Amino acid sequence: MAKLIYEGTRVIFTKEMKKEYKILIPSMAPYHFDFFIDILESEGYQAEILQNHNFDLINEGMKYSHNDICVPAMLVIGQFIDAIKSGGYDVRKIAVMISQTGGGCRASNYLSLIRKAFIKAGYEYIPIVSFNSVGLESNPGFNISNRMIFKLTNSLIYGDILMQIVNEVIPYEVNKGETMAVYKEMHNLLAKSVSYNDLRAWLMPKRLVDKVVKRFSEIEVDRTVIKPKVGVVGEIYVKYSPLGNNDLEQVLRDEGCEVITPSIFDFFLYTFDSTVHDIKKYGGSKLIMFSNYITVEFVERRKKIVAKIIDKYGFIKPLPYRELKKLAKGFIGYGTHVGEGWLLTAEMIHLIHNKVPNIVCTQPFGCLPNHIAGKGMIKRIKDNFPESNIVTIDYDTSATEINQLNRIRLMIANAKKNMK
Ligand code: SF4
Repeated sequence: MAKLIYEGTRVIFTKEMKKEYKILIPSMAPYHFDFFIDILESEGYQAEILQNHNFDLINEGMKYSHNDICVPAMLVIGQFIDAIKSGGYDVRKIAVMISQTGGGCRASNYLSLIRKAFIKAGYEYIPIVSFNSVGLESNPGFNISNRMIFKLTNSLIYGDILMQIVNEVIPYEVNKGETMAVYKEMHNLLAKSVSYNDLRAWLMPKRLVDKVVKRFSEIEVDRTVIKPKVGVVGEIYVKYSPLGNNDLEQVLRDEGCEVITPSIFDFFLYTFDSTVHDIKKYGGSKLIMFSNYITVEFVERRKKIVAKIIDKYGFIKPLPYRELKKLAKGFIGYGTHVGEGWLLTAEMIHLIHNKVPNIVCTQPFGCLPNHIAGKGMIKRIKDNFPESNIVTIDYDTSATEINQLNRIRLMIANAKKNMK
């Protein structure tokens, strides 16, 4: 049995633990996160994405953390503690993993918040592994190798493809259930490709991507039914997480809409690019600046290859990151990059340019950055694009689901009126 090694209150995730422990990961973006398990397993870890999805588990988060932290942090802590208490795991053989952005918002401090909560709940012996690319809190039992970065890059691109195309096809499918059946099949194909540890781990399998997109294009659809298109933007957790947003994607579909959710991959590029911006402006390591710049350029190339394939089969062609960035110019400064920062504003403008003026802007309680870059920008956007039909939805412990639904329905009613 692996020995517990402490560094202050921190339990180190050791090499022995890599063999014996299961790593629990909070759920967030379903189309993307499932690939992480394949990647981690192919690298010799045991891992699981948590499936406890009841919003009430936030009460566990509130019990063990301060009540002024943001809703995503409370949900993540609540999901961990609820899973640990469930009796479904050997609590002496689990670790938890969480990403750390290294930026200015609470996403950099989740680790200490979770640690504090675990100590309070009596689980101080559970290691908390930081997933980051900026050298925060290292552990001998976990390291992000270059091979893993290449696999992760591909997995984010694959997740984006699946999310975009499923959303484009499912509202119009003729045979109910066909899109999700194809999704499962294609997901398994792509999952296999992120599990290779040889040369294939480093490449972008163009032919495989082509096969996947082609397969979706063969699904029989009826596009004579006109449905309002609704874009979903906002804070990264509540934008993608069905747990955080009361299953917003499904709610919108049930209300007869086509959902458009922006790329997660652009968020990844934005975090690298933000470091470039800061070093240029305020100084810092030129080497880090250069390597981040190269990373953005390199992975953009992969995205462009995929965009071409998506376009070939008639789906919406993703906009290159640099062009998306230009859209925010004149609206919000590029230095605003805490939380989703200028990217959120750029995504709203991009949707409006693409004739999707109907937008749900998801806002978690306790998130100052997103109230500025989301809600705070709406008047400016409306002044420039009078056709925009944007509703902000607060995800809060005290906001009732029915209240959220009513606001969404009002936005949809306006969308339908405007379509006429
Ligand atoms: S962006 Fe907002 S909600 Fe998300 S972690 Fe930061 S403070 Fe919390």
